[in-house]
Amino acid sequence: MLPAFFDSIVELITKTSADLPPDVRAAMASALASEAPATRAGQALTIIAQNIDQAESCEAPICQDTGMPTFEVHVPVGANQIWMRAKIREAVAEATERGKLRPNSVDSITGENSGTNLGPGTPIMHFDQWERDEVEVRLILKGGGCENTNAQYALPAELEHLGRADRSLEGVRKCVLHAVWKAQGKGCSPGAVGVCVGGDRTSGYLHAKEQLFRTLEDTNPDPRLAPLEASIMDEANRLTVGPMGFSGKTSLIGCKIGALNRLPASFFVSVAYNCWAFRRLGVRLDSTTGAITSWMYRDGEKSKPMLAPELVAAGFPRTGREISLQAPITEAQIRELKVGDVVLISGRMYTGRDAVHAHLMKHDPEVDLTGAVLYHCGPVVKKQEPAGEGWEVTAAGPTTSIREEPYQADIIRKFGVRVVIGKGGMGATTLAGLQESGAVYLNAVGGAAQFYARCIERVEGVSHMEFGTPEAMWHLQVRDFPAIVTMDSHGNSLHKDVEDESAKVLAGLRRI
Ligand code: SF4
Repeated sequence: MLPAFFDSIVELITKTSADLPPDVRAAMASALASEAPATRAGQALTIIAQNIDQAESCEAPICQDTGMPTFEVHVPVGANQIWMRAKIREAVAEATERGKLRPNSVDSITGENSGTNLGPGTPIMHFDQWERDEVEVRLILKGGGCENTNAQYALPAELEHLGRADRSLEGVRKCVLHAVWKAQGKGCSPGAVGVCVGGDRTSGYLHAKEQLFRTLEDTNPDPRLAPLEASIMDEANRLTVGPMGFSGKTSLIGCKIGALNRLPASFFVSVAYNCWAFRRLGVRLDSTTGAITSWMYRDGEKSKPMLAPELVAAGFPRTGREISLQAPITEAQIRELKVGDVVLISGRMYTGRDAVHAHLMKHDPEVDLTGAVLYHCGPVVKKQEPAGEGWEVTAAGPTTSIREEPYQADIIRKFGVRVVIGKGGMGATTLAGLQESGAVYLNAVGGAAQFYARCIERVEGVSHMEFGTPEAMWHLQVRDFPAIVTMDSHGNSLHKDVEDESAKVLAGLRRI
């Protein structure tokens, strides 16, 4: 049965994880061109562009969060879907073993990571038959940070800054703008949104995600929806949320809207938000061998580099105003920092995300965290060769920090942490904790997993491997790890400032 099918699916997963499709690259290139290089947005986009090229050149994950693998498969009538499902599962496990996917499938009751990306509901596969004599497999890898910013509205509804959203296309417009504003940088903006008007709560979200399989450049064939997509693109990019929520000209790189019939009593608007690391590819396969006959979204061409090789090799684009800090860091050094400063961290850094934070609320750490740098990150890590002699981090961008809001201020105070690095910013409790304890929050560039992996000189140890690879506390030695102070020890938050400023723009888009 289809002897090449397994290898074709492994190749599809590998390329999807490592190589953004040309339409997304083009959108990111035009975002980069629109920002001045020395601004926060310009620096963030330069890091993103470097990261995109680095990932493609070494066929490594663009972002450490390789997301929920979602396959849309079309098969000829009579094809054996049971066999194909089994082979796709095997291919997902193989790609995970090769480090192309991070182990991301967690038992929701015990918290145990299967280590293979296999488990109930993982991966997601949808099969359809068609009357063509070929197999088509499309794949999207949508990460958790942007998945958490999805939104569903039941109209009519009252929306912050926009007023009432009615059961009309004008109401839909308000919902989508509200979702983009609400996401700020938490979903690694600039993002793309897939939208479904109607359906029920379940089919609405599914159809919204399916819109993300359209190319960014296409025009909606529904003449009622095409102008709505265009006007949302225009208005969302006036919001000034910008790359990573740093403020800037590009907040959205795509808006794709579909519609389903609904029950008379319901009117849902479902918004699936995808980050800039918009990993979506597809293949067409020979129906007798399973070999790849053509690629989708790539027009048969290899993706074009975003930057010249010398710019990629040059690393972080410096302005000369960067502040170098060596961990462990003192309170006096922290009190000097203010929002907007660009910092280059060297020395020891510890990763810690959901499981580590929950653990530290009840237990002492295995390491001394006095003056430490705590990085919200779930890296992709593999054993170095020869096997068993150490670890190598192959992808290490920041994860969404707001999940640690209930814990962060306590952990800073109890253990003397001085620097927290993540993405998307944190809330009022953490801001007060930074002020009280003398600590700062740094925003790294979300999704820049290859760029940041190159700032890691070595892995010096690991604690809590029982939490699984992404959730363990990795002890990293880093050099010149760049990030921006977005919450300082004096009560200032860039996230709050950008949210407030963009809220004023949003209110100006109210119309009625
Ligand atoms: S780019 Fe950001 S939102 Fe997207 S998968 Fe990576 S960390 Fe998650």
